[in-house]
Amino acid sequence: MKMSALFPGRSAGLRQCVILVGGLGTRLGALTELLPKPVLPCGDRPFLAWLLRELSRFGFKEAVLLAGHLSDTLAEQVAELAKTLPRPLRIVISNEPLGAGTGGALYHAHALLDERFLLCNGDSLLDTNLAALLAAFADDDDSVYGRILLRHLDDARRYGVVTTENLTLGRDLVTGFLERPPAAANGITPGDIPGDINAGIYLLDRRIHSYLRPVCSLERDIMPALARDGRLRAMRADGFFIDIGVPEDFARAQNELPRRLHRPALFLDRDGVINVDHGYVGSSDRFEFMPGARETIAAATQSGWHVFIVTNQSGVARGYYDEAAVRRLHAWLTEQVIAVGGTIDDVRYCPYHPEGSVAAYRRSSDWRKPAPGMLLDLIRRWQVDPATSIMIGDQESDMAAAAAAGVAAFRFTGGNLAEFVLPLLQNPPAAATATLPQASA
Ligand SMILES: [Mg+2]
Repeated sequence: MKMSALFPGRSAGLRQCVILVGGLGTRLGALTELLPKPVLPCGDRPFLAWLLRELSRFGFKEAVLLAGHLSDTLAEQVAELAKTLPRPLRIVISNEPLGAGTGGALYHAHALLDERFLLCNGDSLLDTNLAALLAAFADDDDSVYGRILLRHLDDARRYGVVTTENLTLGRDLVTGFLERPPAAANGITPGDIPGDINAGIYLLDRRIHSYLRPVCSLERDIMPALARDGRLRAMRADGFFIDIGVPEDFARAQNELPRRLHRPALFLDRDGVINVDHGYVGSSDRFEFMPGARETIAAATQSGWHVFIVTNQSGVARGYYDEAAVRRLHAWLTEQVIAVGGTIDDVRYCPYHPEGSVAAYRRSSDWRKPAPGMLLDLIRRWQVDPATSIMIGDQESDMAAAAAAGVAAFRFTGGNLAEFVLPLLQNPPAAATATLPQASA
């Protein structure tokens, strides 16, 4: 398992993402005269709503939008789309001077920045596992000011490329930024020339400020300077990429984004599945991971699945611990999972019990399994298709809750969770709805 050896206290999760949304969008012509590019409609919602939804899967709690062009319109649109996000996200809009460039926008937002944060463009999206990048950045030593995501192209002749040392060995130092792949410098080379290009997603340390100027470009000025000083690392990422600043991509995004980002979901019961059921576990010191649990979640994230926890926590109603403790434990759990390259997209817990000793929680609830309320709420908020999803639980009540929600369920009775779940992820049960209601054992 990969843990932060040099900085054991450094969390793999980050709280803040910073998004560049101030561009003029001139390549899209009339479309961006009235609307900033990031809030142009893609399918049934603004592009930015898709991007924020994806980011919130990886534990980000706050988005700082670096705005410029049409910032009042942007603020109105963002207030509306924020209500539709499946997980609450605090959104801060920072108005940057026009023409400051991508680096300048970051320079002016300095006072708002966390010590470490993610930075990305508001008009492109890479459907990839950000947890792997977060885990690598948490492990970086103090001399590193940034981690950049790279996309490998079989033919990078039309692009600027990033050169690296030992990219496949994990010691992935960025050595330079070139306008063209070296072999294509004269522009007459026939045939494909592979290369790694900048995906526009960075994890940054706020000390990068010493490199910034009021007007500068991150891509052309700051990243090359960080590379020269040995302060920049890289990681390759796979996945569907779209840049809506390109008219063909914008047209393609209308169908492709909704199709790709409506993911299948892996619903996991907690006690007895993710952790050994020691009875009313309310704190991390009593939390013992089931063998293979972290690997299972990392594999699900890597394969493009949502991972949701649905857990009865009657320990709250019984007075063993409070809701704040449950939330603290789940935040800790999410960080443990991110540290190994997976994420927990969202959690539902039910604190109620009809025979609880705490009056405020003494009642029945349609969220308490075997009722399906927690699954149904996640299905609605995240717009999940139950027929493509699966639930893993260790109790008959888990099977019943899943069946009532239309989700195929599988009962885990101990052993290694990865050995049980990974074959199911690779070969999901087809059209479980055809035989509903059913829960296989
Ligand atoms: Mg259980």
